[in-house]
Amino acid sequence: MITAIYPGSFDPITFGHLDIIKRSVRVVDELIVGVVFSHNAKNALFSVDERVRMIEEVTKDLEHVKVVPFRGLLIDFAKDMKADVIIRGLRAITDFEYELQMSQTNHRLHAEIETMFLTTSVEYSYLSSSVVKEVAKFGGDVSQFVPEISAMELRKKMKQKGECK
Ligand code: ADP
Repeated sequence: MITAIYPGSFDPITFGHLDIIKRSVRVVDELIVGVVFSHNAKNALFSVDERVRMIEEVTKDLEHVKVVPFRGLLIDFAKDMKADVIIRGLRAITDFEYELQMSQTNHRLHAEIETMFLTTSVEYSYLSSSVVKEVAKFGGDVSQFVPEISAMELRKKMKQKGECK
């Protein structure tokens, strides 16, 4: 029985994230999508509850997927969840350096948990939540980048913030 954690900020979930989730569940027995409360380098647009709800909605038909928010060190969360594997997505060479450093650090902290990388599907290689938020901010159509629920919530959020029409 292999339990995997796919951690991230998912602010909001994109088709790139969903692609990694769907491909992961084919190779593991249970997938926990770990939603980080906050990220040092990133200010989340959506609260953790909002992000969890969007992921739950788009994964509701997938078996063996759970969505769990977490604070603090990923490796501690992975231990608490009794995970065997951490899954990360790799888009471009720019992701590589950070991911290598993180996986090696996590390995030093807890050697029993391996990090596995799935390379992005080509159609999503350019896609990130940050770029999607930028498009939404200026009223652009994000429906080709994110599931309907994310697009809807982005529109609501931008209206609340007075960012777009
Ligand atoms: P973002 O970089 O979009 O803010 P997250 O911090 O939520 O994303 O990323 C969570 C994980 O998902 C990371 O491993 C990241 O590399 C991966 N990921 C994000 N977007 C994609 C994509 N388009 N294709 C493949 N993996 C992705």
